Amino acid sequence: MIFHVLTIFPEFFEGPFAHGVVKRGKDAGLLDIRIHNLRDWTHDRHRTVDDRPFGGAEGMVLKCEPIFSAVESIWPERNAGQKVVLLSAQGRMFDQSIANRLKESSELLLVCGRYEGVDERVAEHLADEEISIGNYVLSGGELAAAVVIDTVARLLPGESFQDTGHGEGLLDCPHWTRPAEFRGWKAPEVLLGGNHEEIRQFRRKIAREKTARLRPDLLP
Ligand code: SAH
Repeated sequence: MIFHVLTIFPEFFEGPFAHGVVKRGKDAGLLDIRIHNLRDWTHDRHRTVDDRPFGGAEGMVLKCEPIFSAVESIWPERNAGQKVVLLSAQGRMFDQSIANRLKESSELLLVCGRYEGVDERVAEHLADEEISIGNYVLSGGELAAAVVIDTVARLLPGESFQDTGHGEGLLDCPHWTRPAEFRGWKAPEVLLGGNHEEIRQFRRKIAREKTARLRPDLLP
C-alpha cells in the first residue's frame, strides 16, 4: 500500500515513520510512504500556500489550487483505489472501523491542513473523506495523518496483529509479562499455566470487565 502525505512541513515526518511496524513494513516492501511538499506546487517567488479568508476573519487559509495541482500530478489518472483523505477537526471521527475500510485502498493521500484550515472546495470536490482524530483542535493535520497511517499500517497483510479489540466491541484484554511477581503484584495465575481453553475464557472475561469499567459505551 502507498501512503502519500501532502504537507507544508515535510520534515515533520522524519520521526514518526522511522520505527517499529511502519519502518518494518517499509523495509519489507509492504508499504511505501511518500511525503510531498505542498510548496512544490506553487508558482510565485514566495511559494505561497495560504491566503486571507473571504469575508474577513482571523488567520489564514490554505489555498485550493496547489492542493488540487498536487493531487492531480501525483495521480494524473486517479482510480477508485486511490483515496484522498482530508484531515480536519470537522471530519468524521476516526476509529478502528474506518481504519479497516481504509486499508482496502491501494493508495491513500492525506492532506494536512494548517492555520485556520483548508479552502472548503478541497473537502467538497477533491477529498473522498474528511477525517478527525478526536474532539479537539490540533494546530495542523500532520499529527493526525501520522495517527491514521500508523493505525492502517499495522493492519496490512504481513503484520501479525490479531486484536480482540475495538472492532468487535470489546477492548483488548490486558497483558502481563515477566516477572510473574513485581513489588508484590502478581500476574494472574491462570496465564502462567498451559491450559489454553482456560486462558481463552479468562481473557474474554477480563476484556469484558475492563471494557465495562473504562469504555461502557462500547458494550451492546
Ligand atoms: N479553524 C479550524 C481548525 C484548523 S486547525 C476549526 O476550528 O475547525 C488546522 C488544521 O489542523 C486543520 O486544517 C486540520 O488539518 C488539522 N486538525 C486540527 N484538528 C484536527 C483533528 N481533530 N483531527 C484531524 N485534523 C485536525
